[in-house]
Amino acid sequence: MKTNRLRGIGAAIMALALVQCVPAQLPQETEVWEPEPVVVRPGTLGEAPSDAIVLLGEKGADEWRHTDGGEVKWLVEDGVLTVAAGTGNIETKRSFGDVQLHLEWRAPVRIEGEGQGRGNSGVFLQQRYEVQILDSYDNRTHSNGQAASIYKQHIPLVNAMQPPGEWQSYDIVFTAPRFAPDGALESPAYVTVLHNGVLVQNHVQLLGKTVFMGQPAYAAHPPKQPLMLQDHGNPVSFRNIWVRHLE
Ligand code: MG
Repeated sequence: MKTNRLRGIGAAIMALALVQCVPAQLPQETEVWEPEPVVVRPGTLGEAPSDAIVLLGEKGADEWRHTDGGEVKWLVEDGVLTVAAGTGNIETKRSFGDVQLHLEWRAPVRIEGEGQGRGNSGVFLQQRYEVQILDSYDNRTHSNGQAASIYKQHIPLVNAMQPPGEWQSYDIVFTAPRFAPDGALESPAYVTVLHNGVLVQNHVQLLGKTVFMGQPAYAAHPPKQPLMLQDHGNPVSFRNIWVRHLE
């Protein structure tokens, strides 16, 4: 009975195809089974997925150093890392190319300064492409310099800030730039950012290295470079930072 019914369906599809003058196709013909995606345990809220490299967790700041190579002088307590003003930027000991990056940060509860002077830090992809960290809760500054901007390059789509003192998340997908052996740019970098789960940068093209003055431009660099966190003089805190290689 079942075979007859299947034959019937097959014949009906053939008949329809003939009427419409298109080649007959079974649904199975457009099913793709290989490769099978690797199983990754996603982790419950606040946890890194099973294939991530944890850069900041319960083990402290072992994965980090200052950009001069020195031991981290920022404050580390219970998996929370806080900028110690004046000690300088820190970077990962490991280097990265294309990544998915998750980090959580908190602007100081005590509100001091205004504009770019309030809760300023930043995460620099490959040491040079900054996703701005700033207390942009009720704190107007230039739009291409507020929280979740690609500093001086791309304004965030919306302002998804939590108030100071609340933890916030960035989820970043970064495609590194590619350079030819002679240093010419083969393809630019792209970045997507979700701020507290809200899309704020949608696969935007980076124009080059982040610069404070003038126009950004690319300069060739190795395909993998450290991630860097900025000491901008404000006690911004970080926790739960993890990264996944995407190559
Ligand atoms: Mg900054």
